[in-house]
Formats: sequence, C-alpha cells, structure tokens
Amino acid sequence: MIRIGHGMDVHRLAEGRKLILCGVEVPHTLGLLGHSDADVATHALMDALLGAAALGDIGKLFPDTDDRYLGADSIHLLEIVVDQLAKAGYRPSNTDVTIVAQKPKLRPYIDEMRKRLAQAMGIPLDAVSVKATTTERLGFEGGEEGMSAHAVCLIESL
Ligand code: MG
Repeated sequence: MIRIGHGMDVHRLAEGRKLILCGVEVPHTLGLLGHSDADVATHALMDALLGAAALGDIGKLFPDTDDRYLGADSIHLLEIVVDQLAKAGYRPSNTDVTIVAQKPKLRPYIDEMRKRLAQAMGIPLDAVSVKATTTERLGFEGGEEGMSAHAVCLIESL
C-alpha cells in the first residue's frame, strides 16, 4: 500500500541566527528564527511524512514548550519521525521538497541537502528531491521577512 502526505512550514528571518536548510548550514547574513534550529524545509518534510501516516504533526510530537527541543537538530528529529513511521508499519518511499526564499542562491547546497535528508530517512539519494524558488520579490519570502517550504512524500507499507 502507498499513501501520500503534504507538509508546509514558515519561519521568520532574523539577524544573529544560523541559516540551516535540510540540515545544511548555508552562509547568509540572516538566519531562521525558531525554538529548534528552525530548519523550515526539514519541518515541512516531517509534517508530510507524519501526514501520510496520519500520525499528527511535529507540533504534537515535538512541542515548542518542551525544552528538550530547544535548539534541536531537525535532522535528528527527522530520524525520530522515520522511527515513528516504522512503528506504524511504513517507510518513506520518495519525497519532493520546495524551499521558497528570495536570497541566498541555494543551488550550490542542493546536493548536500538531498544527501542529508536521504541519509536521515534511510532511502536512496534518487528518491529525494530538493528544489528552491523565489517569489519574484512578492510576499514575505520576497521581502526577505521569512522563508517557507513545502514538501510532498509517498510512504509505503513495510
Ligand atoms: Mg517549523
């Protein structure tokens, strides 16, 4: 059996924060603000996986009122999500992630991002797609107030 999932997330940009996307630190003058490392792309992916299995969302699994997740490495949280999926009888099949950001140019980091996600999920590199787009300077992403990310995935029975 295969099932489909979708996730999306938004984080505000701020000075004095690292920019972490799909587990990769991207050099930039601004970083994303959040309780964890604020990896907006990995958060969207986790919600897609949880959604596919109807296991809730990351807010339920990793509450931002819980200090265990303060500054958390989202790639580690992704590993926990994949474990939860396995307990429910599923594994990730493939995924496609889109990061919406005006700046910086993300193309040089895309392959490393795919590698990090594939390793964390225990699936082949060619089952993981990461893309980036701008919004032609429109909206909060275009105005560099924040970034958003969207993810879809398929999961299959173990
Ligand atoms: Mg988030």
